[in-house]
Amino acid sequence: MYCVLLGPPGSGKGTQSEFLVEALGLIHVATGDMFREHLRHQSELGRKAQSYIDEGNLVPDEITIAMLLERIDATQGGSTIFDGFPRTIDQARALDIALTDRGQKGDHVLLLEGSSEELVLRLGGRLTCPADGTIYHETKSPPEIPGHCDQCSNLLMQRSDDEPKAITNRIQVYNEQTAPVAEYYEQTGMLVRIDGSQPPNQVRGELLKVLKESRSNGDT
Ligand code: AMP
Repeated sequence: MYCVLLGPPGSGKGTQSEFLVEALGLIHVATGDMFREHLRHQSELGRKAQSYIDEGNLVPDEITIAMLLERIDATQGGSTIFDGFPRTIDQARALDIALTDRGQKGDHVLLLEGSSEELVLRLGGRLTCPADGTIYHETKSPPEIPGHCDQCSNLLMQRSDDEPKAITNRIQVYNEQTAPVAEYYEQTGMLVRIDGSQPPNQVRGELLKVLKESRSNGDT
């Protein structure tokens, strides 16, 4: 099963995909996490991507698609959830071609929708553990010990692209470049819209329902 989780920054893609990975044993392919890993190691790809990420812009398609194709090969045909990819129409086309070339096809595109005001609130208070990637929110889901990860006690950080200026830009970039990707998938009949402003448990329930139905219909 190949599933794409689409949605504006702050709509809960990261949190929800982690849950689905655990609940359904999916392979998590998150291009944002992959880029952050490259930044941490200051790889050549990380250095190329840094300024785009810091300012809240998209990393150019040729870099992103090449990185993604390598990652798809590493999944060896296992059921996968794509989180944060595709973000442009060209990326969506590249994913279609990549899956077809490998004798596969996309099964679902799940779109988490949310209002701009709610997204800004969520992103502004978001705290991330740099060690294990766990996501918290200052008020909505605070860690037990303020400023420290519940899992590994590491000091939590605010992502550089969760600064107010970058947040505004990321939402604008989403509206201009990624919202058309939802329309692209709508035309294929694969798109399922989910209200991402509901409490996280409710969002989980809806996502699970769609994916479990797909499994019981015989998708791998
Ligand atoms: P995310 O963690 O998914 O919010 O991604 C963080 C940042 O990584 C984005 O704001 C982009 O700069 C970059 N990025 C992640 N995925 C993509 C993608 N599919 N295409 C281009 N840039 C991406």
